Amino acid sequence: MLKVLRQIARQGLRTEPAPQPDEALRVGAERIQRAVLEILGRALAIRQVDAGSCNGCELEINALGNPYYNIEGLGMHFVASPRHADLLLVTGPVSRHMETALRRTYDATPEPRLVVAVGDCGCNGGIFGAGYASCGQVANVIPVDVAVGGCPPPPLEILRGILTAVRAARA
Ligand code: SF4
Repeated sequence: MLKVLRQIARQGLRTEPAPQPDEALRVGAERIQRAVLEILGRALAIRQVDAGSCNGCELEINALGNPYYNIEGLGMHFVASPRHADLLLVTGPVSRHMETALRRTYDATPEPRLVVAVGDCGCNGGIFGAGYASCGQVANVIPVDVAVGGCPPPPLEILRGILTAVRAARA
C-alpha cells in the first residue's frame, strides 16, 4: 500500500485534462431545444419501430441518445409503448412479418400521430425493395409524414427529419 501511495505521489496525475465546453454546440443545442418547445410546447415522446432493417439505421438512432447529440436534453425521449408516443420513427423495408405489427402500432398511437421513415429502406425500399418477403417502403403500409434518406442517415439528419415532421404538424 505504501509503495502504491509513494508511486502516486511521485507520478502525480496521469489523466488527460477535461475537454473545454464547446460554446457553439451549446448554442446550437439551446436553439434546437427552444424550437422543440416552441413547436411542440412540451417534450416529444418517440416510439422506434424496426420493421425489418439491417440495424444500421438503429445504430444511428441509438447515437441520438449519446452525450454528444443528447436528444433527451433537447426534450425528446424514447418510449416503450406506442400508446405513450407522439411520433413513430420507423426503419427498414417493412417485412411481411412486421406488416400487421406496424399497422397495429400505428393504430395504437394517439392522434395527432406523426411518422418519420428513416433510411433508404424506409423511404423507398432501398436495396431490398418489395417482394415476397418485403412490403418495401414504410408508406406502403402506413402514412408517412417525413422520409429521411441515407444508408444509414447520420443522427443529425434523423433529428432534422423529426423536427421537420413536428414543425409541419404545427403549421
Ligand atoms: S437504409 Fe441502409 S442501414 Fe438502414 S436498414 Fe436499410 S440497408 Fe440498413
